[in-house]
Amino acid sequence: MADCSTLDDDEPLEGADRDAPIPPEVLEAVRTLIRWAGDDPDREGLFETPRRVARAYQEYFKGYREDPRQHLARTFEEVGGYDEVVLLRDIPFQSHCEHHMAPIIGKIHIAYLPRHKVVGISKLARVALGYARRLQVQERLTAEIADAIHEGLNPRGVAVVVEASHACMSARGVLTPGVIMTTSRMMGVFRDDERSREEVLKLMGFA
Ligand SMILES: [Zn+2]
Repeated sequence: MADCSTLDDDEPLEGADRDAPIPPEVLEAVRTLIRWAGDDPDREGLFETPRRVARAYQEYFKGYREDPRQHLARTFEEVGGYDEVVLLRDIPFQSHCEHHMAPIIGKIHIAYLPRHKVVGISKLARVALGYARRLQVQERLTAEIADAIHEGLNPRGVAVVVEASHACMSARGVLTPGVIMTTSRMMGVFRDDERSREEVLKLMGFA
């Protein structure tokens, strides 16, 4: 998939999103920003940019058009007596900070200790991405993922750790590339029991 080369870079959007007409005021808003940045939105290289930016926004902010908790609606109770931690590590994600609309790029680790119910493993990633594809602060993203799993699966514990770099720090402001911010939310046994917490953090690759 071509990114920002001279090739056409239309991203694959699905169905309704791809075909939805872009309101003229959205195109105009992007043209205004280009002009304000100091360039000419009518020059050849920028002429199609407002349309591409609008389509990109549909992808970045897809999460507003879904309820991520729905991915946890279908669960399995037949787990053969499995009563250990289920862990999904290194889920890559991209979000946008709500203060600068700058990219937040990183990895999410999700673990839970089932009580009765488990869920298809890809669903955990879908929950995470549903919240990531919105304007976010990393702390809230972390909490929303953990809360959704806690509510949806009623597990004995949930642990969510998010590691990310923020373009609003690396590309502007204090200009500190390479800085990683880590946030976590521990619930149930992972919050109350130090040994369980240590174990899950070890499984996630920390400590
Ligand atoms: Zn920011």
